[in-house]
Amino acid sequence: MSTSSTFLPSFLELKETEEYGRGVYSVKELSPGTDVIVGDPLAHVISSHEREMYCHHCLKKERSLKKCGQCKFVWYCSRACQREDWLYHKVECAGISRISPSIPTDTVRLIVRLLVRRSNGTSTVTSLPKGAQWDMDILTTHAPRYNEELKQSIGEQVFGAKLLMSDSKEYNPEVAFSIACKMISNSFSILDWEMNSIGSGVYILPALLNHSCDPNVIALFEGPKMRLRTTKKIFENEQLFVSYTDLLETRERRQRHLQKYYLFSCNCPRCSSEFSGSLDEKLIKTAADLKESDRKTLYKDGFSKLDEAENVKKKGDWAALESLASEYLTKHSSRLGDTNILIVKMRECLMDSYIEQQKWREALQVAVTLK
Ligand SMILES: [Zn+2]
Ligand SMILES: [Zn+2]
Ligand SMILES: [Zn+2]
Repeated sequence: MSTSSTFLPSFLELKETEEYGRGVYSVKELSPGTDVIVGDPLAHVISSHEREMYCHHCLKKERSLKKCGQCKFVWYCSRACQREDWLYHKVECAGISRISPSIPTDTVRLIVRLLVRRSNGTSTVTSLPKGAQWDMDILTTHAPRYNEELKQSIGEQVFGAKLLMSDSKEYNPEVAFSIACKMISNSFSILDWEMNSIGSGVYILPALLNHSCDPNVIALFEGPKMRLRTTKKIFENEQLFVSYTDLLETRERRQRHLQKYYLFSCNCPRCSSEFSGSLDEKLIKTAADLKESDRKTLYKDGFSKLDEAENVKKKGDWAALESLASEYLTKHSSRLGDTNILIVKMRECLMDSYIEQQKWREALQVAVTLK
């Protein structure tokens, strides 16, 4: 069954099928490199650990940003950006000052900004379907199927939003809860040009696309603006797919992520062909002389080292990241090989640490091996 929608571009349509539920299809053939959906987020935030690096409004990366004099938490590249953001920032600003030195999570700040957006009544889509009162009503929720753990963490984020908003008129507990539920499966990471995640945002139309680990559309960013661009030829009546997860991850880790936050197991071509001949096979290649059990331990240890590296990175301790990553690589790279996912990811960490410490020659050497 297809539904005509006035909010999608005319060459796209929403269809409901047994297998995929709702999805976005192209009514005509599209060549690779076509922008299918371009638009601004309903709301976005810069990750708190990147907050001094990027303008919170236009996302420009600059060394000389100015912070908000009141909360000293958000940073802008210009007065103009600060002014334009004030409508959204004014509500969180007082709250952030009040709870300092605690800092709100990115999710809490995004909930607050969405509540403000809702109450100011402006929309990012051209015309809302019947029955929808604002943009987020278009998006689906998996809330009834969430487990207790997830429900509890949603409750905590909503409570965080309440704390931040104090008694401002935009706060509404039911709406906040529904926003938080929908955000879990509908928000996007915002990437900089190096494909690092620097924040997150809610983009209504892109969120209507289903997932594949072998997507035919990717999300590109210019500041907060998102472009969904085809990476392959799309045939008439073909469905558009975007990826909800990190495509460099192994099948097992992708599936775990999709199951936890989106409540489905992926049956895309890459997932159903197991490891044969796919990217995964290359990425998980391991020295053949290892026993199955040893290989499992190697992976378990490797991924927990990667988690550790992520934490060091968040703290911005680049020297520690460098020693952690180079130690791991010295020990494991000959055994695991250049195409192994742990080695690829750890080299990215090493590269980041060199760049941040301005060790350009070393960074260049790693870049050569990353190619
Ligand atoms: Zn700016
Ligand atoms: Zn402020
Ligand atoms: Zn898949």
